[in-house]
Amino acid sequence: MNRAISYGRQTIDEEDVKAVVRALTSEKITQGPLVEEFEDALTRQTGARYAIVCANGTAALHLACLAAGIGKGDGVVTSPITFLASSNAALYTGATPVFADIDPVTFNIDPAEVEKKLSFNSNVKALIPVHFAGLPCAMERISGIASRKGLTVIEDACHALGAEWKASDGKWRKVGACTHSDMTVFSFHPVKSITTAEGGAVTTNDERLYERLKTLRSHGVTRKKSELVNGDDSPWYYEMQELGFNYRLSDIQSALGTSQLKKLDGFIRRRNEIALLYSASLSKYPFIKTPQALSGVKSAHHLYPLTVEFGEIGVSRKELFMLMRNIGINLQVHYIPVHLQPYYRKVFGYRPGDFPKAEAFYSKEVSLPIYPLLTDEEAGAVTAAIVSALACASARRRPDREDGRACL
Ligand SMILES: *Cc1c(COP(=O)(O)O)cnc(C)c1O
Repeated sequence: MNRAISYGRQTIDEEDVKAVVRALTSEKITQGPLVEEFEDALTRQTGARYAIVCANGTAALHLACLAAGIGKGDGVVTSPITFLASSNAALYTGATPVFADIDPVTFNIDPAEVEKKLSFNSNVKALIPVHFAGLPCAMERISGIASRKGLTVIEDACHALGAEWKASDGKWRKVGACTHSDMTVFSFHPVKSITTAEGGAVTTNDERLYERLKTLRSHGVTRKKSELVNGDDSPWYYEMQELGFNYRLSDIQSALGTSQLKKLDGFIRRRNEIALLYSASLSKYPFIKTPQALSGVKSAHHLYPLTVEFGEIGVSRKELFMLMRNIGINLQVHYIPVHLQPYYRKVFGYRPGDFPKAEAFYSKEVSLPIYPLLTDEEAGAVTAAIVSALACASARRRPDREDGRACL
């Protein structure tokens, strides 16, 4: 193998390069026409009425929380198996994250656990389900809970642009269409479905939320004559009526985003092929569990989360990591449960054991490399190396066997 294999990476082609160069040499390079063009393309892709693009997925989550009116004294329910940003966004607004444990089959937040949390947290104002690894959450159940309790639903779909799920009416829904949520958040970091280097977006069908998201993205400033408080109609005049941020995305990045979005279907198809290859070669081994193929969901396959019974095999995860790294294959772990981070433990008093299903999952998880440019040959090398590393390292544990020494 020539190139080191990482768990994820971008796919950039000649068309992307041309689109960026065209944007870079145009008159406006930050707030020109390409921002709206990318937003329009996102509404066409997802089927949502509105989209706003912004600096990154974290900013998108923060904007969504602010637009929903979340703030001090409010609780926000999310999964402990997610990137820090899902719950940090609630913290930025002064709200308190409330974790609900995962479903051990889908690794997504368990609606039954959400209901349990709601029964003794009366201050909860919003739910942030995370479509972990690109697999859509149980949105009908989640939106049912939310509408009974009057909660806002913000989907963290940073893994799931291009994913779909089948509703009980038999129709497929695209993640981002917001048919069962108020807003959906995406990230365009290089490891995600499509990239703008740094970038993010929020989709919604609610015009009022859309207007708030746009204002908050740009310093909280409005120039709309109908909204001005002081009634000044001077051409230079603008008003800041609330505190916003500079969370804008540039035209250069938007040009890349529009170009990337055209290739989304192919990217997801290739991720799907790789996931199938992995499952076909690894599902037969004991002590290894491949992600379950579920009906009624089409995953975007942002991650391929393999779970390994390290205890049973007698090999540590660290050992597996090192053996794989020696041959240029970099694994990852998604995620260290958020509640176990020192900051969360210090501020909220969380302890190991608080979310046993999330913690059990974390102790077994390894993410195999998955991205469109990964070849069949490379994917085959990954599975062969996993199998031989696990077999070899466990053989080495037995003093009667000498063959373990030749691992990899
Ligand atoms: C990547 C990611 C984010 C944050 O996106 P950035 O663009 O890196 O800020 C948020 N939530 C999840 C689940 C993510 O994977």
